[in-house]
Amino acid sequence: MAVFKLDNVEDLYEIGNVLGSGHFGQVREVRERATGVLWAGKFLKLKKGAGSRLGLERKSVEKEVEILQSLQHQNIMALKDVFESRAELVLIIELIKGGELFDFIAEKENLTETEAIEFMKQILEGVSYMHQKNVAHFDLKPENIMLSDKRAPNPDIKIIDFGMAHRFIQGEEYKSLGGTPQYIAPEIINYEPLSTAADMCLSGLSPFQGETDEETLRNIMAMNYEFEPHYFSQTSNMAKDFIQKLLVKDQSERMTAEECLVHPWIKPLNRTQIAKRNRSSINMKNFKKFNARRKWKMSFNMVSACNRFCRLQLLCKAHGPEQQELRDCESDQEDTGTKPASLLRRRLSSSS
Ligand code: ATP
Repeated sequence: MAVFKLDNVEDLYEIGNVLGSGHFGQVREVRERATGVLWAGKFLKLKKGAGSRLGLERKSVEKEVEILQSLQHQNIMALKDVFESRAELVLIIELIKGGELFDFIAEKENLTETEAIEFMKQILEGVSYMHQKNVAHFDLKPENIMLSDKRAPNPDIKIIDFGMAHRFIQGEEYKSLGGTPQYIAPEIINYEPLSTAADMCLSGLSPFQGETDEETLRNIMAMNYEFEPHYFSQTSNMAKDFIQKLLVKDQSERMTAEECLVHPWIKPLNRTQIAKRNRSSINMKNFKKFNARRKWKMSFNMVSACNRFCRLQLLCKAHGPEQQELRDCESDQEDTGTKPASLLRRRLSSSS
């Protein structure tokens, strides 16, 4: 079992504002008392006991920490330190001040493909680096792609949230059911053995988005998408070719991150290709619509999660600790009521 620092984190860091929250805790700005340097602190609640459904298994945070410690790349959030107490683990991580990439883009009036590619390249460089180290992220989605500083002329992309990441060891078969419906690969839905290729089966705009999560998952399974002229009339053929080579059901046929980096859309071979790219642009009206819908869905999920939590708390108060099993059932029912069965269950996986 990994041992983390046992000091009280508040003795060494002044705890500041909340920057964001996830399923298992909050991320807050923290100031290192000794140096005055600002960091982010990810406060993760640990499970109280084996039967408890609230909080995270310590082992799963150890996995996230081990993976982050092994990754040092400009486009991947850096981990500085880890503190532990009885109830929680605190990860001290690089402070990322620029917010989500998609929010930054949605504020723009227009964006050429060339500008979009500059961001895409950085994402691919981060992903290619982790894949070379046999690490798959398994939760790449707009919420987890942030910007170092949106006021900088060329802000750096930072990939965050390695809570679902996995390092493959040779000969290992690894399956997982975790992910976010709009952005998961078909092999995850099918509970098939996974590889780093699962990180590649996505396009920023989730072309599979259905009216419900179930419909979205069905669309992914059928690879049911099309380049509707209404959305893609300004998109270059090179960009469409790039997307088509990623939205491939067979993992072995999908482009790898390294192959993406040399695709002519990312790395044009001649002046004609450069000119075509410069003439094409992102349909900002649709992008803004997509981003607003995505934000709405995130808030909806957050409110549902809060409701579930509050009801669970009420139940705890009403029944006392001996009713643990009843509480477990209750939260299971709530989970399946609002989400497609098991797919949103975080950090659940198996390897053999
Ligand atoms: P999830 O439930 O999605 O797995 P999580 O508990 O693992 O979430 P993160 O996704 O890592 O938590 O972080 C939650 C939110 O906190 C992010 O969406 C982001 O807004 C903010 N955040 C995370 N890391 C940083 C950082 N290094 N700097 C600034 N803000 C951050």
